Amino acid sequence: MGHEKENKSNLRRYLLATIIPIILLSVTLSFSVFDQIKQYEFTQKELIGIEAIEYLYGGLTELQKIRGYTQIALWKDGESRENLKRLENQFLDRFHQQTWMQKVKEFHLATESDFLYDQAQTLFQVDLPYAQRLDLFTKYSNLITGILQLMQLTADRSNLILDPELDTYYLIDILDKQIPYLAESIGRVRGTGSGFISKGVASREEYELLQSYLSAIQTRVENIRNAQAIIAKVASDMTDELRLIPDELDADILRLFEECSLIKDKDSCQNMHPVMFFQLATHTIELLTTPYFAGIAMLTSRVQARQDKYLMQGGIVFGGTTVAILLMLYFNRAFYLYDQKHYATVAKLSVTDQLTGLYNRRHFYTVFPRELRNTLRYRRCLYLGMLDVDYFKRYNDTYGHPQGDLVLQQIAEVMNNVLQREGDYCFRIGGEEFCFISNESELKKAERLVNRMRATIEDLAISHKGNQPFGVVTVSIGLIKVPADPDCVLETVMSGADRALYKAKENGRNRYVVA
Ligand code: GH3
Ligand code: MG
Ligand code: MG
Repeated sequence: MGHEKENKSNLRRYLLATIIPIILLSVTLSFSVFDQIKQYEFTQKELIGIEAIEYLYGGLTELQKIRGYTQIALWKDGESRENLKRLENQFLDRFHQQTWMQKVKEFHLATESDFLYDQAQTLFQVDLPYAQRLDLFTKYSNLITGILQLMQLTADRSNLILDPELDTYYLIDILDKQIPYLAESIGRVRGTGSGFISKGVASREEYELLQSYLSAIQTRVENIRNAQAIIAKVASDMTDELRLIPDELDADILRLFEECSLIKDKDSCQNMHPVMFFQLATHTIELLTTPYFAGIAMLTSRVQARQDKYLMQGGIVFGGTTVAILLMLYFNRAFYLYDQKHYATVAKLSVTDQLTGLYNRRHFYTVFPRELRNTLRYRRCLYLGMLDVDYFKRYNDTYGHPQGDLVLQQIAEVMNNVLQREGDYCFRIGGEEFCFISNESELKKAERLVNRMRATIEDLAISHKGNQPFGVVTVSIGLIKVPADPDCVLETVMSGADRALYKAKENGRNRYVVA
């Protein structure tokens, strides 16, 4: 039936209206989610990198202490060698700790890490009395430079130097480069300075070397100040918390410069205490520790916040799209079912007679040609019957129109009961006129069917005084065998049936006549 065809295309429309948006949404969603995952992984690597840099900074300060103690031990025998040994072991341990091993694996730092470890081990084995000749200070300084380079390599491989946010980028620069190099410059001043004081003299070249370290301190402090100013500009919320150059450090550096200027003069240099100088420089380096780790904590929290943001955005996009898809599925399904139901209702209404529930006249004009085609195709017979209630006008006049309606309903019921096979159809084509079609194989059988219909209606025994001699409601039926001819015209067949019906009326009603 056309109804089913309509249903199918309706379903297809709804599927398209559901699937296409879902595909588009899913593509958009996957792009967005992949991007969020990428960003998340990017920040994850940054966070691990920050830990690595912090860890290396700890190693840097240890190594600086080792260099300092070594310098003093060179000139002043009897200094705490045990202290030195302890620091050396502590430093070597760093390379084998779980925290560091993970980072080595993560950032492929095995070669660089092993090289530094071997170098440190070799240096720690040098016997101090012979060390002076080996220029141990330069060797330790190179080792420290190695650590500084490792810090930068780590920043490089952990995305830190690619950080997209300006404030974080400058913070990284300060923590990965400026402060470590500043600490090292002060460390070199400490080492060389205390060495010169211990000797009681510094040659012109030695003094110039000291000056170059001092100017490096100045440069780094300036760099930190500049970077901090930029951070304050782009991230005003950091201004209060972030003070990487505390006032105390300024004062300490100033004192360090003053002390260093005394080394130039041989007399005053001989009067200076190397340990006191050492301690002053050490204190200066230590003053960097607090802001350094505060900076690391701040950097961590900023990257972490960004990571959380990515996670949340990803969650919102994923959740939102999923909800949108589910809602669409739900509503489209609901609309589809609603449409189906109403379409079926409307389709049924459009072919149904309201009073009797039989098919209406319009549907007769749809069904008849189709059945005729089928009859021809399957070489079957087709019969058309016309049924009319006898003296129905009188019935209405006597019992009332509403009662007449009930009679029509009962007749329709009988027709439906008698005509139940496939290919049987009943129609109400006029006020009290009905017709039906049937695929009975033989005329005899069709006649029997028609007669049964007539008799059953009579047997209803609905009182009808005006229909004498029967006294009950009866019907007359005209039956015609539809010719198996593709050119057969419906009107011709119908008038044939009509004539037969007329004959039935003429012959006394309550009967059927075959055309
Ligand atoms: P005949 O035996 O010759 O068919 O006599 P008749 O009175 O049935 O003939 P006629 O065609 O003159 O009358 C048909 C009547 O059917 C007229 C009308 O009152 C009645 N009728 C038509 N439609 C309806 C309907 O929907 N309900 C009711 N109750 N009566 C209807
Ligand atoms: Mg009539
Ligand atoms: Mg009638």
